Amino acid sequence: MSTLAKFSGLRAIASLLYPPVCTICAAIVGSDDYLCEECKAKTTRIIPPFCGKCSEPFEGAITDTFICANCAHRTIHFDAAVAAYRSRGIVRQIIHDFKYGRQIHLRHLVTRWLTAALDDPRLRGRRFDVIIPVPLHPARKRERGFNQASLLAELLSAQISIQSKPLLERIRYTTTQTALDRTERMENLHNAFRLRKNTNVRDLRVLLIDDVLTTGSTLNECARILKGAGAISVHAATAARA
Ligand SMILES: [Zn+2]
Ligand SMILES: [Zn+2]
Repeated sequence: MSTLAKFSGLRAIASLLYPPVCTICAAIVGSDDYLCEECKAKTTRIIPPFCGKCSEPFEGAITDTFICANCAHRTIHFDAAVAAYRSRGIVRQIIHDFKYGRQIHLRHLVTRWLTAALDDPRLRGRRFDVIIPVPLHPARKRERGFNQASLLAELLSAQISIQSKPLLERIRYTTTQTALDRTERMENLHNAFRLRKNTNVRDLRVLLIDDVLTTGSTLNECARILKGAGAISVHAATAARA
């Protein structure tokens, strides 16, 4: 018996003993699933119409691509920022538990959502030279134990065979962005990031990764640094959008 056959045999036995269950409700699911059909139905994919730049969903009957008011009034440095799901209900809960509840195993499910973003027409079929996770400030990383964006970027990297490299670093410990409006967020983030020493992004096509897109200010600031250092393009993918 080949090693591979042995391995899949063991997996089959393991799945009989410990059948995979839904992350939310513990119902038994297929070996490749993290959520049962019922829970999956409670997640919301972001579908058009949405802003072509930042993916902000628009509730209404527009069929053309449009640019939201938020993007129309700022300089956008990323080429597009794509989010796969609405950060609501169980999506929001899972990402929260992953980030703040130290439930690191949830990275697999969140990466699945992130991967769905790559199916968007703005990203599909596009070539990237490098995946770069949005960095956390070292103090915050110590506090949390990990950078969630790096964990997602590493899993994605293995799936799509593009190297993930932490080429950006966060040099300002910013207060949490949650309570700030757009202008305050932008000021808060100014000079918060820089390229790591002895790294080069010149002529690279970058795929920037984060777990959640809120206003896009963080991604925009990262993209500004990368473009300023010579990156040809910066597209961003996130699992969910607030
Ligand atoms: Zn379920
Ligand atoms: Zn927008």
